[in-house]
Amino acid sequence: MPLNLSVLTLIMPLSYTNTPIVEISTPETIRSGIRLLIKREDQNHPFLSGNKWWKLKYNLEAAQQHGHNTILTFGGAYSNHIYATAAAAYELGFQSIGVIRGEETLPLNHTLAFAKSKGMQLHYVSREAYRHKNDVAFIQQVKDRFGDFYLIPEGGTNQLAIRGVQEFAHMLKAEIAFDYICLPVGTGGTIAGIISGLDEHHDIIGISVLKNGAFLSDEVSQLLKNFSGRVYGNWTIETSYHHGGYAKTNPQLFAFMDELTARHKLPLDPVYTAKLMWGVQDMIARGKFRRGSTVLVLHTGGLQGLQGFR
Ligand SMILES: *Cc1c(COP(=O)(O)O)cnc(C)c1O
Repeated sequence: MPLNLSVLTLIMPLSYTNTPIVEISTPETIRSGIRLLIKREDQNHPFLSGNKWWKLKYNLEAAQQHGHNTILTFGGAYSNHIYATAAAAYELGFQSIGVIRGEETLPLNHTLAFAKSKGMQLHYVSREAYRHKNDVAFIQQVKDRFGDFYLIPEGGTNQLAIRGVQEFAHMLKAEIAFDYICLPVGTGGTIAGIISGLDEHHDIIGISVLKNGAFLSDEVSQLLKNFSGRVYGNWTIETSYHHGGYAKTNPQLFAFMDELTARHKLPLDPVYTAKLMWGVQDMIARGKFRRGSTVLVLHTGGLQGLQGFR
């Protein structure tokens, strides 16, 4: 039986206690008269890093309250969400099943080897089948095979995930004043939580890590509508910083990433946060941010992914 969730914060002692905010000053920030701050939320937990902790929090609680023994979720072979869910399930005494897109490749990469070491059962499905992962028929097939489970969608995005991120946003705005917040967008759950938790005067800018990310704005609007019934006018998603698409990289991106890490002691991952910082420096260069304003960049974690790329 899963442990009582009241011990969650004991098992995961680093969770949500004031991660650092660091300032980065460069000739460009000085020239454009902005203050650039990084919220190092990647440091909130060693395994459930960054946004994944917030997205999982109320899902884990719900799984427990409804008496589930097993958590099932979805992801690609480099998924930070698979990694985080496997760790959380293990710590809390749940069985876990990861439905993984594509064929098994051996040896397992860092992410999947870790998930497996935490007891996650890996169930590979073809890319074609994976596309139907939200269909009732597909879910029923998985139920027939594995029995009952608490389902967490791909990337962890659902209404409970938004609630968790909203809670983080409430703490963030109490902690520090800022004008803009920039963060990476994959499924849109995190930015939806941030939008719902901040105020009208905050300008929220998402950086799509997917190619053809224009659809994400509709996706996020819909998530927000379901969550709070509201329409918000203080956010946008930039779609031109994806570097070829999800988990696509190139030498320039790596060089940029390595330079930031070396110069500012800022560790980044190539899938999310390097593209985020690329977008931020480009927007600074283009004069997107008002002179005198404070730009807060949300480091959403995911550094484990780096090990699969080198
Ligand atoms: C999963 C992830 C994201 C994307 O979050 P969404 O809620 O899916 O938009 C961003 N950054 C990191 C580091 C992630 O692991």
